[in-house]
Amino acid sequence: MNFTCRCGYRFHDNTDELRFKARILPDQDFNEFYTLLEDAGKSQTKEEQHHIFDKIYDLLKKCIYQCPECGRLFLKNSGGGLTMFTPSDSAEPNEDVDRNMLMSAHGASWHGSLRAEWYDPKPVWLPHSGSVGASVNPPEPVQWFDTYTETEQTFHVMFEKLRAEDRIDYAEIRVHEQGGTRCLFSWRRENKD
Ligand SMILES: [Zn+2]
Repeated sequence: MNFTCRCGYRFHDNTDELRFKARILPDQDFNEFYTLLEDAGKSQTKEEQHHIFDKIYDLLKKCIYQCPECGRLFLKNSGGGLTMFTPSDSAEPNEDVDRNMLMSAHGASWHGSLRAEWYDPKPVWLPHSGSVGASVNPPEPVQWFDTYTETEQTFHVMFEKLRAEDRIDYAEIRVHEQGGTRCLFSWRRENKD
């Protein structure tokens, strides 16, 4: 990929170990990355290893460039184009800037998670005892409850919906009591490929 900075510097991304380029591992993909590293260590054949390295490379396909002349940053956006960021304390962001540049490399087809949490007693730092939250793309708002029954019912409605839409990798209900934390429900997606 070749492009020109606003200041006139010409970027040539056609070799390795470039000093002005970095790869971004989205936080949404960190667990998958870690599991792939473990799998690579256990793999028996060169073919298995290459298959895992291809997947790791796919997770690291998001790149950021910094102009060595003026310091501007260029981030590859979801559509494959570049968005420029100018170091500044005063400029307002562009209206149409892509807000999801650090999203998972899988984009909207990323498999996230669904969690219900119930606290008894309710800690002071929480607005309510129960919550149901999904970490998915596009995001879903966290829902709060004051009874365990409502928390559990909402969890199962969300669980059926997100599982049918193939948007989650795992789901769980956890109850936090003074004696410790118990997992009352746990589900993991099979066939991760
Ligand atoms: Zn520049």
